[in-house]
Amino acid sequence: MAIFENADFDDHESVHAFTDPQSGLKAIIAIHSTKLGPSAGGCRLWQYVTSEQAMTDALRLSRGMSYKNAMAGLNLGGGKAVVMRPEGDFDREALFVAFGKAIQTLGGRYYTAEDVGVSPDDMRVVRRQTNYVAGLDDGEFASGDPSPVTADGVFRSIKLAADKKMNSSLKGLRIAVQGLGHVGFDLCKRLDHAGAELIVTDINSEILRTAESEFGAKIVVPDDIYAVDADIYAPCALGATLNPKSLDQLKVSVIAGAANNQLSVPQMGQQLHEMDVLYCPDYVVNGGGIINIAGEIDGSYNKDWVEDKLQGLENTLSEIIDLASTSHRSTHVIADEMAQARIGRR
Ligand code: NAD
Repeated sequence: MAIFENADFDDHESVHAFTDPQSGLKAIIAIHSTKLGPSAGGCRLWQYVTSEQAMTDALRLSRGMSYKNAMAGLNLGGGKAVVMRPEGDFDREALFVAFGKAIQTLGGRYYTAEDVGVSPDDMRVVRRQTNYVAGLDDGEFASGDPSPVTADGVFRSIKLAADKKMNSSLKGLRIAVQGLGHVGFDLCKRLDHAGAELIVTDINSEILRTAESEFGAKIVVPDDIYAVDADIYAPCALGATLNPKSLDQLKVSVIAGAANNQLSVPQMGQQLHEMDVLYCPDYVVNGGGIINIAGEIDGSYNKDWVEDKLQGLENTLSEIIDLASTSHRSTHVIADEMAQARIGRR
């Protein structure tokens, strides 16, 4: 497998492959940068078809964590782990024991936490093998589920963007939310409370019915979310939903949501800029979760510190929007430049 030639290699400091035949562990841990501190980013358990796919995912996600941690003002670098889900039945506990041992060998250059497919229970198993793990729900500095804090950061970003772009509060604005999972549903609660009108979609019909009864949300099928008449689109499900097909349909003025890697390719950011749509860079908007986790890694978790950092997130987004506006450049370019400067890559 070519590593240095991989288009997403981007001068990663190190990339580690781990196997454990007994448990079936096949994991890649990518460390993009430790310039600001030990690398931190979640562990994803996914059914990758090939190891190349796992490698590309690890590289993209770890670079994203470098940018996210830097923009959130954290003393953390960027890293990410991907575990290839074994085929068929497997011993989950044995898998995460082996994963925990792998992390321990890195001696603290990488801290892990939950990501897609991984639960706090899995992290408890990892914790038996290593201290370099966060996102736990018990223990002295445990920070618990990061999703509500992520939703808080997304909510603040939407509010700020509505004010800057439309000179409007959220009251009466139509907001299309894609994905009502841990972050999306909590975001809907906050938006509803602020008086927004919600248009929602998910592949889980039960959660849609709950949103309809709790918030009076209008429900649409997944493919229709892009074309709805709305002021704001909040992607909170999958990555790459900002692509040529969706851009043809979107009628919104603002995009801000929790999903990682929303732009299918960077050029989509430029296209949104030309369409006069304010795109709030994903890794800035969704930094609340890692902010919450950072307090736990530091061993000093407290709510005031988290609040300060969330305020910092708002200030950073505000700076990006203002700079983009005065320099007539797209927000994603401004954000990338700021993140790269913070990690000494410019
Ligand atoms: P989640 O798995 O709890 O929720 C995702 C939701 O999206 C689910 O309800 C799922 O049914 C729905 N969904 C899946 N495919 C869909 C489709 N095609 N159309 C509409 N809905 C679909 O995940 P989450 O923790 O809420 O995270 C949401 C996104 O935010 C993810 O991209 C995640 O990587 C990102 N993120 C999450 C956090 C966090 O703190 N949880 C932090 C940063 C970024």
